[in-house]
Amino acid sequence: MFGLKQTKESTEHTESYYAATADQTVNYPKLEGDLQTDVVIVGGGFSGVNTALELIEKGYAVVLLEANRIAWGATGRNGGQIIGGVGGKDPELFVKTIGEEGVQTVHQMGFESGEIIRERVAKYDIDCDIKWGYCDVAIKPRHMRNFEEWQTYAKQTGNPHNLQLLDANEIKQYVGSDNYCGGLLNATGNGHVHPMNLCAGEARAAKELGAQIFEQSRVTEIKHGEKVKVLTEVGSVSAKYLVLCGNAYMGELVPKLSKKILPSNSSVIATAPLPELLAKSVMPSDVAVCDPRTALDYFRLSADNRLLFGGLSNYTGLEPSNLKATMAKKMLKVFPQLEGIDIEYGWSGQMGIGINRMPQMGRLADNAFYVQAYSGHGVAPTHIMGRVIAEMIAGKPERFDIFTKIHHWSFPGGKLFRRPAMALGMLYYKIIDEF
Ligand SMILES: Cc1cc2nc3c(=O)[nH]c(=O)nc-3n(C[C@H](O)[C@H](O)[C@H](O)COP(=O)(O)OP(=O)(O)OC[C@H]3O[C@@H](n4cnc5c(N)ncnc54)[C@H](O)[C@@H]3O)c2cc1C
Repeated sequence: MFGLKQTKESTEHTESYYAATADQTVNYPKLEGDLQTDVVIVGGGFSGVNTALELIEKGYAVVLLEANRIAWGATGRNGGQIIGGVGGKDPELFVKTIGEEGVQTVHQMGFESGEIIRERVAKYDIDCDIKWGYCDVAIKPRHMRNFEEWQTYAKQTGNPHNLQLLDANEIKQYVGSDNYCGGLLNATGNGHVHPMNLCAGEARAAKELGAQIFEQSRVTEIKHGEKVKVLTEVGSVSAKYLVLCGNAYMGELVPKLSKKILPSNSSVIATAPLPELLAKSVMPSDVAVCDPRTALDYFRLSADNRLLFGGLSNYTGLEPSNLKATMAKKMLKVFPQLEGIDIEYGWSGQMGIGINRMPQMGRLADNAFYVQAYSGHGVAPTHIMGRVIAEMIAGKPERFDIFTKIHHWSFPGGKLFRRPAMALGMLYYKIIDEF
């Protein structure tokens, strides 16, 4: 078991491979004074930035307020894996509340989510090392049986991308490890990206279209009314609409929302750049990879041939005290050929977990909306959720309304006990994963 520590976060980017290779071409000021706008957005991760971009493309005046830096939160720290689908692999679980049509719409949104990234990168010429190709890997034969079901299910639900089952020999063309007995390849619909640079490029596009973006501008109070007003330490914004996108980093700004989300920790390491032959021995086809466990490993190569290896998710919300060493041990279990390679970066971040794993999107008031809780799977879904919120503000609420029907439970145990309760829950699933 690893040790855990409580860290006080800086308002600058955490030290990561992404921050060290970030596009720093645009900086944003701190909000000072009082502004008026159509829509004020709180949070400058993928959710907030993409909501801003969708709205500004529709002609709305937009102000975006970020407490730290654009992509400072989960958006700038994640595994960079673009995985289509909204709410996991099974929106059917919600058929009683959203109906067959609703389930179909959620499936379509899942396919659209990755396409938005593809289109946006091309349209705004965003330099973010994007590559297509992704593989789920099987550790046990029962995982292969699940993959067969997923493959059939993908066809039935109209996934436009072909999913290919890989046997124990074929998987070696994608992952140079003896740990896996097969896989499921999505060569065109899923992939990987430098997430901080993707988000920075999307923010730049929004700014160039007229969005006003402010960093180091934490919203500390919301005043609801015919117009909604948000206050920062030294400024305020009044707007017709408010969209809250602070996700796992929003703290207790809106207690009603924080009750439904558990900030949980996941960690990533980046090796030194690997010599070409070694990189090829580890990831021969340069795809992104996840295993199917609750506390999963996820990994991929960066543009400069580092292995980015993530995992160690825990519901305590705390960072492991010896992050690099603990993660390196996990990485060597998968890739013993990397023994002796330097680990140059190690970092962690908070993702918002919801009990039913479906992203939470809804209304706080007639003119105040929120989206949160992608449960560790948000790089692509944030893009479609931003689009759906913008549609709703523009008078097309159909897709938004599907999400407001889904019930999201509060975590049991109140502020004090919800973490230990969920940590125990995760331990249960970790044990189940061993069989
Ligand atoms: C380590 C890690 C690995 C992950 N790997 C993957 C992956 O490979 N693939 C995948 O699909 N998903 C992954 N995820 C999940 C994914 O990163 C998130 O779901 C997604 O980035 C959420 O984006 P967001 O904009 O909603 O939240 P965030 O990116 O967390 O952004 C929220 C922002 O709001 C700001 N904020 C909060 N409160 C306020 C306030 N009061 N005023 C102003 N600003 C405020 C914060 O500073 C922050 O910048 C991972 C997450 C983590 C942590």
